[in-house]
Amino acid sequence: MSSLAAYSAQAFSSLGRVHPEPEEPSKSGRNPFQRDRDRVLHCAAFRRLEYKTQVFLNHEGDDFRTRLTHSLEVAQIGRAVARRLFLNEDLVEAISLAHDLGHTPFGHAGQDALNACMKDYDGFEHNLQSLWVVDELEERYPSFDGLNLSYETREGILKHISRKNIQIHRAWLGPLADRFENNLQPTLEAQLANIADEIAYSNHDIDDGIRSGLLQMESLNQTELWNSRRHIVLQKYPQLEGRRLRHEVIRHIIHILIDDLVNNSKKLIEQHHPQSIDDVRKSPPLIAFSDSVKNQVVELKSFLFKNLYRHPRVVNVTQEAAEQIEFLFQYFLKHSEEIPGHFRKKDNLQRRIAHYIAGMTDRFARSEFIRLQSKG
Ligand code: MG
Repeated sequence: MSSLAAYSAQAFSSLGRVHPEPEEPSKSGRNPFQRDRDRVLHCAAFRRLEYKTQVFLNHEGDDFRTRLTHSLEVAQIGRAVARRLFLNEDLVEAISLAHDLGHTPFGHAGQDALNACMKDYDGFEHNLQSLWVVDELEERYPSFDGLNLSYETREGILKHISRKNIQIHRAWLGPLADRFENNLQPTLEAQLANIADEIAYSNHDIDDGIRSGLLQMESLNQTELWNSRRHIVLQKYPQLEGRRLRHEVIRHIIHILIDDLVNNSKKLIEQHHPQSIDDVRKSPPLIAFSDSVKNQVVELKSFLFKNLYRHPRVVNVTQEAAEQIEFLFQYFLKHSEEIPGHFRKKDNLQRRIAHYIAGMTDRFARSEFIRLQSKG
């Protein structure tokens, strides 16, 4: 990668790993962010994303997104934008592939249920859990826990954290916590991975929503983003309908979001003129949609919230899933000896249970629920 901008995150100036490791030779080897990406790709938590719900439960159909395919789509969109802004594609890819590693089984319902179980024990936050996975829970190396990723990748993974958890985990988080306390921005690559996530899920949730029959394509006409792109597509292909129309409109929406993001971010970068990562950290967010497109994205997201995420069929299924999480939590409180031994001994019992349950796939959580319930 030769043409990175001065404001990009560059591997040679990385703040490094917690446990120092020799880097690979610069000519033949991978740079630190490429190694991070490969470590994420080879870890067990990454493979389990295949059987974790995004919106639709994993068993509802083979064409629906899972956390794995979602993460791949985020990485694809992130890299496409990174290239056009001369940002570091490798870092964007590493962050994108890792960003959902801490998600529980059963999507948001699972996360809410686990958070409720943990309410007296510092709660459950999925961004923090993703960091926990890469910093401690993966066991792959002889001399340290976790994947020992570069600072910039870890920073991108920890997108949000509550004030309370910053205080509790101050020693572990180190400089990662400073950013939140001093109101600094993360790298542009981290900002980009975050928005690529939004672009990916807004579009694939439309696609999955219509495929599932929960969303009617016509009802999306009330949103400006869909309706304006649909007009353009139908002008060119007046006969188009069904899934080809859906795919073409979505393709147009992704294109316009990416174009707008690139152009508006270029403008912001020109205005604030960051010359280094330090400048980026002190600037306002520089990877952002224009106001008009942002409003359209907000409108689309609130449409999806009302009509898809809160659809009775989605809510019913996820409520059932939440009850299964609650059962598993209570069960392991009483039978702590059944929690696999490799979960950290230094954590209290509730946290160890949360780590164990959060790592479960949908199908494993369900089969454990059935097995343990029948045991009494
Ligand atoms: Mg995501």
